[in-house]
Amino acid sequence: MISKEICEDDCEEIILVKNSKLCKNCTNIVIGKGNPNAEILFVGEAPGRNEDLQGLPFVGAAGKNFDKMLEKVGLSLENIYIANILKCRPPENRDPLPEEIRAHTPWLLKQIREMKPKVICSFGNYATKFFLAKGDIEEMKNQLGITSVHGRPKEIEFNGLKIKLVPLFHPAAIIYNQRLLPLWESDIEIVKEEVRKAREQKKLF
Ligand code: URA
Repeated sequence: MISKEICEDDCEEIILVKNSKLCKNCTNIVIGKGNPNAEILFVGEAPGRNEDLQGLPFVGAAGKNFDKMLEKVGLSLENIYIANILKCRPPENRDPLPEEIRAHTPWLLKQIREMKPKVICSFGNYATKFFLAKGDIEEMKNQLGITSVHGRPKEIEFNGLKIKLVPLFHPAAIIYNQRLLPLWESDIEIVKEEVRKAREQKKLF
């Protein structure tokens, strides 16, 4: 939870978010949760209603699926961090607009610079396309969708960091489309395997 007023020591990435229209209309700015020094980062799309009210990501129905997934792969908030592409809830949970992604992702990039994660698990189309497009918002529309790339880990060079990107369906999509459940379950095994490999190579905690 963070004040929406611009403070004297706010950096430009935070000011960009605070000046955005989405921020004027939300209850709380949702920065992230977990361990900011972790080596594995999960990135979702945008806060929903519960997240907006509580100022924390993934605390609603999608959060329950996320929690179950963490447990299955042997991770907890002590060894991961989770944030979103947008820091503020879009009205009626609509899709993020390019100008919103442009205003909100510099803060995410700052978090990534500070955290230097080895693995990023991207949830859904927006987060996945953002990383596949190397943060170039114009290029996002030219990327393959999550249905084509889910569960296929990819080494990427992102802002000078070598990252293993693991694209996953959004945990909310599983609620609305039960047919995705077997794919979601098999993707969880992929995440488990990536965590195992990274631990073996001592890349990860
Ligand atoms: N969906 C997201 O993408 N992020 C959240 O924080 C909650 C739901």
